Amino acid sequence: MRHLEVRGLTKRFAADSPPAVDDAAFTLDPSEILGIVGPSGCGKTTTLRMIAGFERPDSGEILLDDRSIVDLPPEKRRIGLVFQDYALFPNRSVLRNVLFALHRTPRHDRLSRADELIAMVGLSRERDRMPQELSGGQQQRVALARALAAEPQLLLLDEPFSNLDAALRDSTRRDIRALLKRARVSTILVTHDQDEALSFCDTVAVMHDGRIEQTGSPESVYLQPRTSFVAQFLGRANLLSGRATGDAADTDLGRIAIATPATGDVTLSLRPEHLTLRAVDGDAPDGCTEEQLACVGEIVSREFRGHDITYRVRFRETDFLVHTDYSIDHAPGTRVYLIPRRPAVVL
Ligand code: ADP
Ligand code: MG
Repeated sequence: MRHLEVRGLTKRFAADSPPAVDDAAFTLDPSEILGIVGPSGCGKTTTLRMIAGFERPDSGEILLDDRSIVDLPPEKRRIGLVFQDYALFPNRSVLRNVLFALHRTPRHDRLSRADELIAMVGLSRERDRMPQELSGGQQQRVALARALAAEPQLLLLDEPFSNLDAALRDSTRRDIRALLKRARVSTILVTHDQDEALSFCDTVAVMHDGRIEQTGSPESVYLQPRTSFVAQFLGRANLLSGRATGDAADTDLGRIAIATPATGDVTLSLRPEHLTLRAVDGDAPDGCTEEQLACVGEIVSREFRGHDITYRVRFRETDFLVHTDYSIDHAPGTRVYLIPRRPAVVL
């Protein structure tokens, strides 16, 4: 049985503007973490607000454990929410913030349950501190403990990490994912950050202009994008047009393998890490066709990132992004062969 099922969810704020959410559909299994990822303004928060009950859909269905919740007020839905600004009570300690949310727990169990939740988010030593005495990451964990205190059947997280600085964001994300998995809480995370969606979620739904364009595992949406929007939103992508004949296509980069058989005109996506390069005056690359050896471009820029390097290579008036490991190191101006390492994805 699906834990949550959303069908045909649509919301329009004004008759003369396009819908903020347009026929969205997705499902969530028990203890699954689903990510809804897309650019700012694509309808993510509106989707969460409809699930939480703060916004009424124009049409569509929201089923929690097979029961429609569309007509229930927010407080009857047993859905927990954590937003970007943690909204803790500023004049209450960590303990009192969590205690306040334990209204479903019998009175005599509340203190021990609060301590258990505080320990679960790793804040036992901070239990008696006030919110302003905590770091952003710690405040976010208090917000999470408080949301879990109400024993939600579903937890909704709206950009919860975006106020944290980069170092804290990574570790907070890792901790919270581990914690949600241990507690087996079904969760929807909304974010505009593709890395966050790919690393935090079991399933990712990519949203664009109110519509969900593709849903799947992080690997499948990243490696097999179905649209150019999904390919470009989830990372950098080189888009190529070509003419396919079965399992290869003729493109500006010569004849290259494609991941799914096709015929006729196609648009292809090659991730920067699926291309590599070799200096023209070094050893000739093995296993390349004549045609590939004709793909000689010039490095126009180099972005060094410690463990890897991203190059921009100009070839026949088009710039290609190429991502190599640190050992393939060339200066701008170097003439290089451009070599695909994986079949291109047909969009
Ligand atoms: P996201 O969370 O993906 O950034 P939102 O769901 O907040 O996007 O917004 C989607 C679209 O709906 C935007 O164009 C936004 O301006 C519009 N919108 C959101 N809330 C309202 C509202 N209460 N009234 C009118 N328009 C709204
Ligand atoms: Mg939003």
